[in-house]
Amino acid sequence: MLTGDAAFIKKMNRSLILGKIVEHKMISRAELAKITGLNKATISVQVSDLLKKKFIIETQQEHRSLGRRPVMLSVNRDAGFVLGIDLDKNSITFTISDLIGTSVRTDIIELQVSAYDVILKLLIEQINGYKLKFASSCYGLVGIAIGIHGIVNKDEIVDYVPQHGWQNKNLKKDLENETGVNVVIENNANLCSIAEKVYKYHQSNNLLSVSLYSGIGIGFIINGELFKGYHGYAGEIGHMIVVPNGLPCSCGNLGCWEQYASEMSLFIKMDEKQKNLAFNIEEIQYRMKEQDPEFTEKIDQFLYYLSIGLNNLINLYNPEILVVNSEVLRLLPDTVKKLKAHLSSPISHYSELNISEFGKKACIMGACALAIQNFLGVSELCLTLSEESSLDK
Ligand SMILES: [Zn+2]
Repeated sequence: MLTGDAAFIKKMNRSLILGKIVEHKMISRAELAKITGLNKATISVQVSDLLKKKFIIETQQEHRSLGRRPVMLSVNRDAGFVLGIDLDKNSITFTISDLIGTSVRTDIIELQVSAYDVILKLLIEQINGYKLKFASSCYGLVGIAIGIHGIVNKDEIVDYVPQHGWQNKNLKKDLENETGVNVVIENNANLCSIAEKVYKYHQSNNLLSVSLYSGIGIGFIINGELFKGYHGYAGEIGHMIVVPNGLPCSCGNLGCWEQYASEMSLFIKMDEKQKNLAFNIEEIQYRMKEQDPEFTEKIDQFLYYLSIGLNNLINLYNPEILVVNSEVLRLLPDTVKKLKAHLSSPISHYSELNISEFGKKACIMGACALAIQNFLGVSELCLTLSEESSLDK
């Protein structure tokens, strides 16, 4: 029988080996030993256990000019499937992914209601439908992760969702009881940071992702793990005051950052004359083509206020990678250059500032990654977006 320490070491080795098989897609036992530094006997025992459990499969490499072709190991991508859910204000997006992070199906349900019981019933029906659909795979539907556009505490209780008026909801328990599938509840900005780390910045252990949608949230990865704060509430940065006695905010204060630098604040500003909040991404594209000076001025002001908050974050966290997630900023030219021009203080240190390539999809990509990570028991997951995946489209 294994002692506590031996069982722990075995688990760590398994996580390391499986993580490398996921990352490399195809790898031989010899290469695994070289990369992980583990001896061949350990690799052999672990690999045979993973093969027995059908987590991995053996394949022969297609082409080798001379000599014996080595047996390669790959993740058995269809052994089970995960479900990522983005629970937004007006819609719920469901993405089913295989075990290497390739999306196999996406469904979007428009929402016209906010009542918790109604949305819970809808989620249960949808999840049970997927359970049936994927039941023929080896492990079936193995895990679910849900992105919440609100506050989630360290026990995964949905503390507050302003858009739906939810308070203190145990969505995890309610769904697990009815579906029997493991559910993880996470804040959407945290999931965005996981997506950046898992799908793009594999090498970075210090990454800060700032999401600018109806509000502003941050997700912070330190040493490869999410930083959540003592109670799980870290990252509610949209209510940092950047303009003393400025615009009123729903939180009761004046001059909060999200009143100046969230996409919602920009849409309101662009729509000032009409006052009907009809402004959206399509309108931004249209106004960009028109090269209207009033539009340019408002964008410049938006970037200026955005940079004030970013400057504070940089000085607070000294991030290696700083990613700004915004559909609007993905469209605009020279955004990074303009932001950097405002971040010129010699004491503000960061290595890279980028606009997220994933935009709004980052939330659901992070959800799928988190569910895969939990199922495989891999502590550091590195996935690659494949061309067949619709996650990157
Ligand atoms: Zn506020």
